[in-house]
Amino acid sequence: MTESRAVPEVDRVAAARRAVERRRARASLKRDLTMRVVTPQAVLARAVADADSVEGSMRITDFLLALPAIGAGKRDRILDELHISPVKRLGGLGVRQRGVLARWLNGRFPLLEPRGARSRLLVLAGPTAVGKGTVAAYIRENHPEIHLSVSATTRPPRPGEVDGVHYYFVDDTEFDRLIAEGELLEYAVVHNRSRYGTPRAPIDAALAEGKTVLLEIDLQGARQVRRAEPSATLIFLLPPSWDELVQRLVGRGTEEAEERARRLRTAKVELAAQNEFDHLIVNEDVAAAAAEVVELSSSSAR
Ligand code: 5GP
Repeated sequence: MTESRAVPEVDRVAAARRAVERRRARASLKRDLTMRVVTPQAVLARAVADADSVEGSMRITDFLLALPAIGAGKRDRILDELHISPVKRLGGLGVRQRGVLARWLNGRFPLLEPRGARSRLLVLAGPTAVGKGTVAAYIRENHPEIHLSVSATTRPPRPGEVDGVHYYFVDDTEFDRLIAEGELLEYAVVHNRSRYGTPRAPIDAALAEGKTVLLEIDLQGARQVRRAEPSATLIFLLPPSWDELVQRLVGRGTEEAEERARRLRTAKVELAAQNEFDHLIVNEDVAAAAAEVVELSSSSAR
């Protein structure tokens, strides 16, 4: 009797299913690394904590190859330099190897520095479709102590949107006037369509009252706020995984292939901007992500 016959059929089916799931999880983890949805340091930490995890079972060669801008040649040189055998799995690295790999990762992919002095001006940005609007709406409903900035926009209201609550809906002439009079802290054309901007006066008033102010704006806007108010706290919302973001971005594939590809390219570029931010928050669950934002606001209030 061969060994495979000795294993009951149900167990073999279950084992095969587990193997497929694991392969899928490993492939998804590689995409998360490539797209910067997770930091390589976080993956290494999970691999070390649990050698049997998806992270722990990942080959060092696959891990390095999944990192942004590392091809096969560079990967092999790195392994040589770090004296790590290419057959190793992340969870099987020795203490010395983990140390050299961690130091190399920190040099190549610097982690965000924790900010000491914080401002009460919080900016929430992130890639398209990550759910910034939902997190901001949750904060508006549940945390009246936080002043959520109401933007001006030239786009028409959607059903259910109230002027002065969700946006100030203005025409192009009024938007031009707001810019000319210096009434906007920042403004940008979003998705090549409408203009959006943050009125400055309500923010100044709320800050003067000692409140925390939250802006939910796009990346271009976040960069302008950084320049205008360097002490502002910039928060980048991340999707739980690259696959999840793709799902939210392109849904069930009703768009043209070209449009899908364009959105995915944009998301990749947007994710690469995360290094400009002070904090990363993963939007796995809206209430939890909102709680993390609020936590930043309370720890920053002085
Ligand atoms: P929507 O039209 O779906 O409400 O918003 C589209 C995008 O505009 C979102 O990514 C949102 O973050 C961004 N946005 C909303 N208000 C502002 C703003 O005042 N300034 C900038 N730069 N972007 C904004």
